[in-house]
Amino acid sequence: MRLLVIEDEERLATALKRGLEAAGYAVDVAHDGRIGLYMARENPYQAIVLDIMLPGLNGYRVCARLRAEGLEVPILMLTAKNGEYDEAEALDTGADDYLAKPFSYVVLEARLRALLRRGGARRQAVLHIGDLWLDPAGRTCGRGQARIELTAKELAVLECLAERAGEVVTKTEIVEQVWSADFDGDLNIVEVYVSALRRKIDAPYGRASIETVRGSGYRLIGQGHPHDRHTR
Ligand code: CA
Repeated sequence: MRLLVIEDEERLATALKRGLEAAGYAVDVAHDGRIGLYMARENPYQAIVLDIMLPGLNGYRVCARLRAEGLEVPILMLTAKNGEYDEAEALDTGADDYLAKPFSYVVLEARLRALLRRGGARRQAVLHIGDLWLDPAGRTCGRGQARIELTAKELAVLECLAERAGEVVTKTEIVEQVWSADFDGDLNIVEVYVSALRRKIDAPYGRASIETVRGSGYRLIGQGHPHDRHTR
């Protein structure tokens, strides 16, 4: 899952990026409201952490513009003054939740998880593709009753494919959704993750659910019994 942190205090922004990356998220940082707004429009983020007092454009305005443009990405606003006025205004401009500074990192991560679980409108709680299931917010995956252990990045790559099961997803689309903007490596890194996924979600179960579409990308197809659940 890719997140955007818009925060001008560099130490705080760096600490958030480090902590969230350790928790398995891909994190981009903007130190300026205008740049943050631009990045939020251009990239597929699953959530945004947004400070209020920012150079360029303040957090209320960034939030209001994104909502006015129809972007439904969940936004967690960081309020500075710990006053009711700030918090009410944060929610009025379209933020989904707020956290007063100073805050504990553990609380921030928990609030983010809750936001991701509640979803930015389109997010489905648990994805089912045949008997393969994936809970993006809970970070778990399995086949039927069996739970499958995946790394954070493997899970994120699988999520890209699962959200669009049956369709071809390109390597570029996967990299954009799973890696942060400072990734400047080879698109072929995706192949490494797909191989790992095949070893974990397919081979032990006698399946071949991730198809390679030559020259285009990959397609996840439903296989196995869905156990009375919805198939996609
Ligand atoms: Ca600030």
